[in-house]
Formats: sequence, structure tokens, C-alpha cells
Amino acid sequence: MCGVFGAYSNTDCVAEEVYLGLLALQHRGQESAGVAWIDAARRVNVEKGMGLVHEALDQKSLSRTKVTSAIGHVRYSTAGGSLLQNAQPICANYAQGPVAIAHNGNLTNLTELRSSLESRGAIFQSTSDTEAILHLVAHQPAKRPLDALLYALERARGAFSLVVLLEDGLVAARDPWGFRPLALGRRDDNYYISSESCAFSLIGATLVRDVEPGEVLLINENGLTSYRLGIEADRRWLCSFEFVYFARPDSVIEGRSVYRARQEMGRRLAREGSSEECSSGGDPDAADFVAYLPDSGTTAAIGYAEESGIPFEAAVVRNRYVGRTFIQPTQRVRELGVRVKLSPSQELFADSSAILVDDSLVRGTTAGLVVAMVRECRARELHLRISSPPVKYPCYYGIDTPSRGDLTAAGHSVAQIAASIGADSLRYLSKDGLIGAIGLPGDRLCTACFDGCYLDDPAEAVPSGCGVCSCGGVF
Ligand code: AMP
Ligand code: SF4
Repeated sequence: MCGVFGAYSNTDCVAEEVYLGLLALQHRGQESAGVAWIDAARRVNVEKGMGLVHEALDQKSLSRTKVTSAIGHVRYSTAGGSLLQNAQPICANYAQGPVAIAHNGNLTNLTELRSSLESRGAIFQSTSDTEAILHLVAHQPAKRPLDALLYALERARGAFSLVVLLEDGLVAARDPWGFRPLALGRRDDNYYISSESCAFSLIGATLVRDVEPGEVLLINENGLTSYRLGIEADRRWLCSFEFVYFARPDSVIEGRSVYRARQEMGRRLAREGSSEECSSGGDPDAADFVAYLPDSGTTAAIGYAEESGIPFEAAVVRNRYVGRTFIQPTQRVRELGVRVKLSPSQELFADSSAILVDDSLVRGTTAGLVVAMVRECRARELHLRISSPPVKYPCYYGIDTPSRGDLTAAGHSVAQIAASIGADSLRYLSKDGLIGAIGLPGDRLCTACFDGCYLDDPAEAVPSGCGVCSCGGVF
């Protein structure tokens, strides 16, 4: 998962604003960052580097870059290629002029696209699907760049929320299924495109609306022009995990506040007697307090505490100077990372009964270790609450989830997971609870990592269809 940001102005210099936008999107990717612009000589320029935005980019030099349009990207860490060559935006100066692309999402037909492009002589520098879009554009030299881009995007399947720089102007595009969010913001006559609306307030802009699924928006001196991709989706597939974990709580996606959705997930989790639940003893209703795993479980824990009437305590402290632990090469390093990052308060947990809330359980590393650490604090009872359904299936739309074998809920019952983690009880939010909390109709949301219903039939999906998707009629 990544973050993209674009800015267009008739008057102001915007490269530094793109830098600021990327800072606000830092939670969407910490591996690398980049900013691209087109200079007066019609050449595309890019500055990119590894690490966090402030490490990868030079704010001072961007503030001196006198351009009225620029795009930027923060890249999400993946298990494999943590390399500068994978950093974005990807840029080229082809027959029809300069082009720069920053992409959030994954194409599901990359293999087909790549082999068809390679059979026509394309030489790929990376394994990235963004490069495939660039090649598709370059293979249409007779078309003007915007038409070539529309042509390319109509051949792509899966998830793409893009910002693109062409000589024609700044372009924003979202796949017809609407997997990843993309928002349009405005300050006076300046327009901004961002993966999330949370980036707008930092630059004094306000959210205008979402870029619509299947919409391609051109922004230039003539204002805004909206085009439609010639592909009609049967239904929408907005990623429900954006509401669970990825998006910042102060973002609004399709009119829904991420904060309110998370809080409601916590409330429903407290109310629900879900089938995704087991208990080996104790009384969660009589718990002394509700604690969260910082920072991901915070908002749901607030909702849980409100609904249950059990007081809320910040009983697990996070070392904010330690980075991510989720995608580390080995389990040992991941475990060490969790221990360094999270620390339960001995004072609060000793001899108490506590509810512990986190947003998701993927491999089970974080919850397992925190429960063990809380046990070391001599807690009497520990009830683990997860504000999303069990993650049983990998994501093919831009999230680096482990393979099925590493997803703890794929091969284990709720009782087995509770036992292996060492919790007295474990409850997940149901899928209906999740959809209800988000507040959008279920057929507008992707829930594939929870239910295996994919847009396309990936290798690991259950064979034969239910008529709507590829879940095999199981769900
Ligand atoms: P795990 O420790 O493998 O069970 O992962 C669950 C923890 O990682 C939770 O605390 C989540 O907040 C966080 N998380 C879930 N999905 C992701 C993801 N795709 N990337 C990074 N962190 C994640
Ligand atoms: Fe989001 Fe899960 Fe769908 Fe991936 S599979 S797009 S993480 S809901």
C-alpha cells in the first residue's frame, strides 16, 4: 500500500506542498518517497530516496523548485524489493513528451500485460505494475498523451489510484472498482489530489470530493475536466481494510469518517455475540478496564469502552521512536520489534482483568507477544478483542499480506488462536458488523481478505463462482 499526492496551481509553486502532502501520508508507506515535476525545458525531473519523507527528500531544495504542478509518492514496505529503483514516481520522456506516474494499488493482470508488452519489444527495468502502465502509454505514440493514458488504463485490471503528470496537466485516475481511495482537494484556485483527505488540512486545502471509481480527472489552466474510462464495473470494491487499519482516522473516504467507522467497530464489537468468538473462562463483562494496542487499536477501544461502560486506560505504552514491525524479514526480528515498540504497564495490569483491543490479527505476532508481556505483569484475566473479522485470505490489491500459510486465521479456529495467544477469551468483529460500522452497502466494499470473495480469480481463491465473485459460493 502506498500514498500518492499531486498539486496543480496557476500561480503558486507547489513542489514543497507535495512534500508536505507526503508527510501527511507517511503512514501509507515508509520505504521510500519521491517527487516529480516537468521543467521549463519539457523534461521530467524526479527527486527520490529511501526512508521516511524527511530522510528521502530535501524540503529546502523542493521549496526552491519553481513549478506549478508536481506529484509525489510514498512507498509501502514489502517483503522483497526495498530498493531505490522501486521508488516512485516512475518517469520517462517518450516520443510524445514527458510523463511521470505515482501509483497506489496492484494490477491483477500484470503478467498478461507484461508478456504482451514484452512480445512487442518492451524492456522492463523493474517488476512494478506502474512501469507496465508507462509502457502501455509509450506504445501508443500516435495518440496524444492523455488518450494514450486512457487507453492504458482501460487495459489494466485490479487496483489503481494514480496521479500522473503530463504536459497537458495533472491527471488523477481511479480504477473502475474503486479499491483504493483518492480525493480531490482545493485551496482557492489550487487543486490537490491525495490518497487521503487528511493531507489537505496541512496545506490549508479542503476536501471537495472523492475521485470517482472509473474517473480520470485532468487539471490544468482550463480548470477540471472529467473523463470516464470505458469500463463499467458491476459493483464497487472499496477496500474495507482502509477503514480498519490503513487510513488515518482524520480522513474521510466516500463520505465516511474513518474515526467514526473505527469507533463504531469498537461499539459493535462490544455488543456482538459473534460466531467468531471463544472463551475458556473469566468474565469480560466484569473487566476492570479496556486497553488498546497503540496506535492501531485506539479508536476501536474508545468505542468498546463507551458501549460496554468499562473504563478506558492507556495501559500499553508505545515507544514512538521505533518504526514498523509488521513487515520484517524474519519472525525473530518481528518479535523483537514488538517487544521494543510496545510496553504494558505493570502498575495497571497487575492483578487486574483487562480487555485488550487491536484492529486486526494477521500472523498473530503482535497480539501473542503483548498478551505474553501482559501476563508477565501478572494480569489475572485477559480478553482479546479484534475490531475486524479474521484475516483468512491474502490481498491482491496493493496490501502486502502474508501468504495463506502465514495467516493465523486461515488454518486455525478461534479457540486454537486464543489458546496459542494465551488469551482467556477472543472475539472478532463479524463481517456484517464491519460493514455496518463502515456504513456503506456491502456490495460497495471489498472484504476479500476476510471472506475470499475476489474480483478476479487469483490462484488461491476458492474455485467456481457464486455468481457475484470468485468465492466458490462458500460465503
Ligand atoms: P500481526 O502481528 O501479524 O498479527 O499483525 C497485526 C498487527 O499489524 C495489528 O496490530 C495491525 O495494526 C497491524 N497490521 C495489520 N495489517 C497490516 C499491514 N498490512 N501492514 C502493516 N501493519 C499491519
Ligand atoms: Fe482491502 Fe482486504 Fe480487499 Fe485487500 S483484500 S483490498 S486489504 S479488503
